[in-house]
Amino acid sequence: MTSTETIRSAEAAHDLPTIPHWIDGAEHPSRSGRTAPVFNPALGVATANVALADQAEIDAAIASAQRGFEVWGQYSIAKRQSVLFAFRELLNARKGELAAIITAEHGKVLSDAMGEILRGQEVVELATGFPHLIKGAYSENASTGIDVYSLKQPLGVVGIISPFNFPAMVPMWFFPIAIAAGNAVVLKPSEKDPSAALWLARLWKEAGLPDGVFTVLQGDKLAVDGLLNSPVVQSISFVGSTPIAQYIYETASKNGKRVQALGGAKNHMLVLPDADLDLVADQAVNAGYGAAGERCMAVSVVLAVEPVADDLIAKITERIGRLRIGNGAGDAQGEPDMGPLITAVHRDKVSGYVDIAERDGADIVVDGRGFTVDGHEDGFFFGPTLIDNIPTTSAAYREEIFGPVLSVVRVQTFQEGLDLINSGQFGNGTAIFTNDGGAARRFQSEVQVGMIGINVPIPVPVAYHSFGGWKASLFGDAKAYGVHGFDFFTREKAITSRWLDPATHGGINLGFPQN
Ligand code: NAD
Repeated sequence: MTSTETIRSAEAAHDLPTIPHWIDGAEHPSRSGRTAPVFNPALGVATANVALADQAEIDAAIASAQRGFEVWGQYSIAKRQSVLFAFRELLNARKGELAAIITAEHGKVLSDAMGEILRGQEVVELATGFPHLIKGAYSENASTGIDVYSLKQPLGVVGIISPFNFPAMVPMWFFPIAIAAGNAVVLKPSEKDPSAALWLARLWKEAGLPDGVFTVLQGDKLAVDGLLNSPVVQSISFVGSTPIAQYIYETASKNGKRVQALGGAKNHMLVLPDADLDLVADQAVNAGYGAAGERCMAVSVVLAVEPVADDLIAKITERIGRLRIGNGAGDAQGEPDMGPLITAVHRDKVSGYVDIAERDGADIVVDGRGFTVDGHEDGFFFGPTLIDNIPTTSAAYREEIFGPVLSVVRVQTFQEGLDLINSGQFGNGTAIFTNDGGAARRFQSEVQVGMIGINVPIPVPVAYHSFGGWKASLFGDAKAYGVHGFDFFTREKAITSRWLDPATHGGINLGFPQN
C-alpha cells in the first residue's frame, strides 16, 4: 500500500461507511474491528471500508449456509426453477444499477461493466434449464429383474472465492449452477470491490431464495482459510492469481474437498503474414487495452510472423493515439475507452514491469508510465503501452502484468510462434489470426492452451461450453460452468435395485454378483 493509500485508509476508518457481510438473508455488520479501504480508482479516494471477517463471523456465515441448505435442498425442482427465473428477470431489469457499482469500485468503463454482467447472466439463463442437466439415468433390466439408476444430489455448503477483476461475472460463473443444483453458497468476494456481491445477495432475496442459501462473507486470507478448513464446506471454486490458486488447490484437496482453482494468464495472439492487418490491429487494441488489461483473457503478447511486425506496430500505435482514457463512469464527452487500474499499488507494479522490459533491452514504442487524466490527477491511471522487441527471457515477457501493456515479439515462422506459446507457464487463452484454414487447424490441435480463438481475440466460451485453461491457469480438472459446472456441483449415486420375488431370488450364493 502506498503512503497516500495508508493515510486515506486511516481517514476512511473514521468517516466512511463499512460494507457488511450478508448472512441469514440480511446485512450483517462486522464486529471484527478489521477493515480494508475500498477505492474509487478513477478518483483515487477511499469511498468505504469493507469488513474483514474474524473466526466468529466465518463460523456464523457457514452455520447459516448449512441451515439454508437444509431448507433449499428440500425444495422441489419446480420451486427452485421459479426462484431462478425470478432472479434472471430481476437481474435483466436492474443490471444498470450493478454496472454502476462495478465501475465505481473497479474502474472499468460502464459498457464493459454491463458486458461482464451479460456474460454472467448467460450462466443464470443456462442454470434455469438445470432439471435437464441434473437428471440421472435409468437402465431397466440391467440383469434379470434388476434395474440400475443414478441420482445427482447437491453437495451441501459450497465456497466461492473470487478476484477483483470481474466482481459480478466470476461469481456468476459458479453460483447460479450451484444454487440450481440445490447447494448453499458462501461467496468470499475480492476485498477490493466487494459491493457487487452484496447487491446480488439482495437480488436473490427479492427473487425468493430462502435465507442462508446465498451468503456473502467479506474478508481476506483469514476468511479464505476459514472456508478451506471448515469441515462443513464441501467444495471450493476459486478464481485469482496462480500462486493463490495453487495454494487453494493444495489446501482444499488436502482437506478432502472438491476444488476448482483457476489462475493467471499470459495470452498470446499469433499473427500470420496472410492476416488482414487492420482487423488484427483493431482486435489487438480491443483485447490488449480493454478493461485496462485487467482481464484473464486479455491479449498481452502479439507474436508477429515476419514480415508483418513493422506494419502492425504502426497500425496499433495509430489506434492507441485515438483511445480516450478517463473515468469509466463517463464525463461531458461521454464514455471513455479505458478506465484506471484497480489500485495505486497495482499501477506501480505495472509500471515496474515496463521498467524491467526497458532495462532488458526492449523498445518502448508507446509509454504509459506517469500518465494522468486532467481533473483526475489522483486516479490510478496508466496509459496504454506498446513494447517491441521484448526479449523472451525478460520477466516482463514471462510473467503476467495485468495492465494495459501489449508486447510484440517478432518471429520468423508459425512453428517458432507455436513453440513460444507452448513453452510458457500459463495456458489460459490464445488466438491465431490468419486466412489459412490449414494453419488454424494445426494451431488448434497443437497449442497447449485451454481456450483458443481463430480470428477471435478473447475466446471466452459461451455458458453451455466450459471455461478453463491448462497448466498454471487451472489446477485440477474441473472447469467453470457448462457441463463441468453441473458435474462439479452435484454428487452422483448409483442404485442397483431388485424387487424380490420369492420364486426367482435364487437362494443362497456367496459368489460375486454377476449378470
Ligand atoms: P488474487 O489471487 O490476489 O485474489 C483472488 C482472491 O483470493 C481474492 O478473493 C483474495 O481476497 C484472495 N486472496 C488473496 N491473497 C490470498 C492469500 N494469500 N490467501 C488466501 N486468499 C487470498 O487475484 P486478484 O488480484 O484479485 O485477481 C487477478 C488475478 O486473477 C489475475 O492473476 C488474473 O489472471 C486472475 N484471473 C483468472 C481468471 C481465470 O479464469 N483463469 C479470471 C479472472 C481473473
